[in-house]
Amino acid sequence: MPQIPYRTYLEEHEIPQNWYNIKADMKEQHDPFVHPGTKQPMAAKDLEPIFCAELCAQEFNTTDRFIKIPQDILDYYLTYRPSPLIRAYNLEKTLATPAKIYFKFEGNNTSGSHKLNSAAAQVYYAKQQGLKGLTTETGAGQWGTALAMACAYFGLDLTVFMVKVSSQQKPYRKAVMESYGASVIASPSTTTQAGRGILERDPDTGGSLGCAISEAIELSLSNDNIRYVLGSVLDHVVLHQSIIGLEAKAAMEKIGEYPDIIIGCAGGGSNLGGLMAPFMGDKLNSTANPYFIAVEPASCPTLTRGQFAYDFGDVGQTTPLIKMYTLGCGFMPSANHAGGLRYHGMSPIISKLYHDGYLNEARAVEQTAVFDAATLFAKHETILPAPESAHAIKVTIDEALKCKETGEPKTILTGLSGTGYFDMQAYMSYNSRNMSDSIPTDEELAAGFAQLIRL
Ligand SMILES: *Cc1c(COP(=O)(O)O)cnc(C)c1O
Repeated sequence: MPQIPYRTYLEEHEIPQNWYNIKADMKEQHDPFVHPGTKQPMAAKDLEPIFCAELCAQEFNTTDRFIKIPQDILDYYLTYRPSPLIRAYNLEKTLATPAKIYFKFEGNNTSGSHKLNSAAAQVYYAKQQGLKGLTTETGAGQWGTALAMACAYFGLDLTVFMVKVSSQQKPYRKAVMESYGASVIASPSTTTQAGRGILERDPDTGGSLGCAISEAIELSLSNDNIRYVLGSVLDHVVLHQSIIGLEAKAAMEKIGEYPDIIIGCAGGGSNLGGLMAPFMGDKLNSTANPYFIAVEPASCPTLTRGQFAYDFGDVGQTTPLIKMYTLGCGFMPSANHAGGLRYHGMSPIISKLYHDGYLNEARAVEQTAVFDAATLFAKHETILPAPESAHAIKVTIDEALKCKETGEPKTILTGLSGTGYFDMQAYMSYNSRNMSDSIPTDEELAAGFAQLIRL
């Protein structure tokens, strides 16, 4: 048998020319956005005051299986893509597992994560529409950085509302964004009504993604030349991230492999959604039957303990109502170190696929065990993973050890969504054994569910 290489790269000319729209293959679509006032389903044009027109069109596209990637975006992708598919031989050896472990690594760009894939697309369409600037929120900082990079490249202004705990934990993130020309505001801030309201109720809050979203949306609505962009959750983001799965599938085909198990961490669901999309397409079309696992933090257990209900995407209750797994938009997760996974809701596509049983399983894991896995991985595979990605690594190791018990040589494909170079506060806390796991009680979750809107 030929030796499979440590790294399998596609050639530049093999980079996918189209994104894959999983919705074209879904048996049933997720429920539509609903207007919180009228309680009526919303159409693409209803979202255009907030989002770019082309992104609204993509958001509602349930029929085109493939959507052409514009050449300017492809040109940008080629500065850091195709990303490598890595066979984790060293980790396999250490675990003494018969499993074959593959990682699709998205940390190979300055933003350090997969988020640049959607940032490039969103900024490109905003520029095409003639907009002057964009605004957004960022939690861990990866999205803000990715967007700052894309805005610098395509030539748009950017204001980033950065979750306060993250901006304190990660001053260098802020510096990177500013180096690319973005203006960065700690959220909650006094620059918006939403921020002032939250500060009045809870002056010491460390903020949350939901709260930063409210502030960014408020700014976008106050200026017709500015639109809001979101780094996860929405269908068009999952669409752009399908490049991860398409590349992974093509690379695996090159080496004669196909995954039995596909694992990704899920914050808003975009890296997992993108990684699994073409494989999920196979499952929906009954040409293959891989097993999908979404991994989330025990401190923010959206899929494992949340409800499948209509909810706002933000704590300020400014977004349309979205049918998704949610902990309630008022849920304030504890200051877990995986900032990108501290979100109360989940992609409607992921939610629907999970609810209908196509996404087989969600697993919640605790922070300390996640960093045990992260450091074991780093020592053997050299990449220091983002804390978010380390959630997927933790479950990958668990699955590989299961294979050791059963003797089954399963093929595992895991999304390594980013690097942890800007997360050293988290690693410091782990190294000094200061890390604690904070898991919400049923009573705390019930308080979030009680606030859900019943339609
Ligand atoms: C943002 C982020 C996540 C979580 O977001 P998803 O939309 O669920 O992918 C995961 N990993 C990294 C490295 C991130 O930056």
